[in-house]
Amino acid sequence: MKPTSNLSNCLVISLLLGMVLSIGICPNPSGSETVNRPNILFIFTDDHATAAIGAYGSKINETPNMDRIANEGMIFRNSFCTNSICAPSRAVILTGKHSHINGKIDNKNTFDGSQQTFPKLLQKAGYQTAMIGKWHLRSDPSGFDYWDVLRGQGHYYNPEFYSAEGLRTIEGYATDVTTDLALGWLKVERDPDKPFMLMCQHKAPHRNWMPGPDHLTLYDDIEIPEPDTLFDEYSNRNSGAKDQEMTIANHMYPAYDLKISPTGELEEREQNLWENTYGRMTEEQKKVWDAAYEPKNEAFRAANLEGKDLVRWRYQRYIKDYLRCIASVDDNIGRLLDYLDETGLAENTLVIYSSDQGFYLGEHGWYDKRWMYEESLEMPLLMRWPEVIKPGSEDAHLVQNLDYAETFLEIAGVEIPKDMQGESILPLMKGEDPEDWRESIYYHYYENPGAHNVPRHYGVRTDRYKLIHYYQLDEWELIDLEKDPKEMRSFYGADGYAEVQEELEKELKRLRKLYRVPEGS
Ligand code: CA
Repeated sequence: MKPTSNLSNCLVISLLLGMVLSIGICPNPSGSETVNRPNILFIFTDDHATAAIGAYGSKINETPNMDRIANEGMIFRNSFCTNSICAPSRAVILTGKHSHINGKIDNKNTFDGSQQTFPKLLQKAGYQTAMIGKWHLRSDPSGFDYWDVLRGQGHYYNPEFYSAEGLRTIEGYATDVTTDLALGWLKVERDPDKPFMLMCQHKAPHRNWMPGPDHLTLYDDIEIPEPDTLFDEYSNRNSGAKDQEMTIANHMYPAYDLKISPTGELEEREQNLWENTYGRMTEEQKKVWDAAYEPKNEAFRAANLEGKDLVRWRYQRYIKDYLRCIASVDDNIGRLLDYLDETGLAENTLVIYSSDQGFYLGEHGWYDKRWMYEESLEMPLLMRWPEVIKPGSEDAHLVQNLDYAETFLEIAGVEIPKDMQGESILPLMKGEDPEDWRESIYYHYYENPGAHNVPRHYGVRTDRYKLIHYYQLDEWELIDLEKDPKEMRSFYGADGYAEVQEELEKELKRLRKLYRVPEGS
């Protein structure tokens, strides 16, 4: 069939189906014929660990709406980032290229928005593209028909949104506001004659973990279980593990992080942070906040805790606030899923839930991310697409955020550019087991000097082992996930590991060459 007759068919079908079905039965402008190109709803959060998602077996919270995506679709059990920090993970997703190629190696530099990204390619292929919420790449979004993003890290309360029309403050809680804007776009701005790709990206549950007004007292009456490694002493590992600055015990601000309202003067840095967070709230919002926190803070002051008891209290305050933020995300995912159901869009919309990296929820005594250890290396990845993905299915292949761009392009019928470095995971979504699928992944963290003082490192992970090189320290670690799943010791140079070590060294060298990692970094 020639493109012209396809086009007239398309017009007739569009007239018939019009507003009811947005499935874009059209040849796309690049010439390749695609039928039923799906919509893509990419729901993305910041710092959400798999350990705090019901579908991944959480022992500390429930996430019924995230679980709904998994139950009605697929859960990926081995999903990892390439560089465990916020902005670089986003840049990898947009470009399908490792940090050293897309240029965004840490949170400090600016993303070069002039380069090739998957939204640009989808837009060119006839998708309507939109980006709403946390962007965090310093340069303006490009490749989107519509964008409305949080400025910088964004605020939990009364966030400032930035669009092509300028800056404005929206009263409310960021997770709710971001969802309101996404729903508003779907209802008003969406072009029913085109498939859409909407990125709905939340600030939550990023530091400083400020819960929304609906969840301020959630978990007040219960104790959240502590991780076994809360009091880790970092023996048998690289020297950087001892020198990091990310412990719940010593590296959190009492007011900003732990919401212990100040009774006296704060030092300047924390005073600014406090004013920029609590200080942003309206009088009414402060009243609701204080009513929730002040009785708990009073009890804390009266208890005069010390040593491990104090660390335990700090863990409870931290984890509860973190989980409260996730409760809002989960509620709001429910709103989006309901909308897709009500409008009949659900059937041909790929819904994805993911987060830019994992996070420490007290494991090793930590919060934050950055390390190649499992808690921060993992990314949740849940997908629902009724036309393609079998409900209740799961996949255990090694996948990375490096693969998202290629996946979106393939399902949209767009040719994957040769310079992208990941693989489309569409075969995995269909339940296939490709013979030549990768057996290892490459990881590389760069931000040092930087916040939390985590040394630069790169490494390889297979299904069982990790070999990690802390090249500033000239130290190595070999992790055996089967023998030591909590990663409490290195087997580098240990008896019985010589052969494994040699194989991993070879594989690491192969990956660095494959991904064109410059020597000396
Ligand atoms: Ca993050």
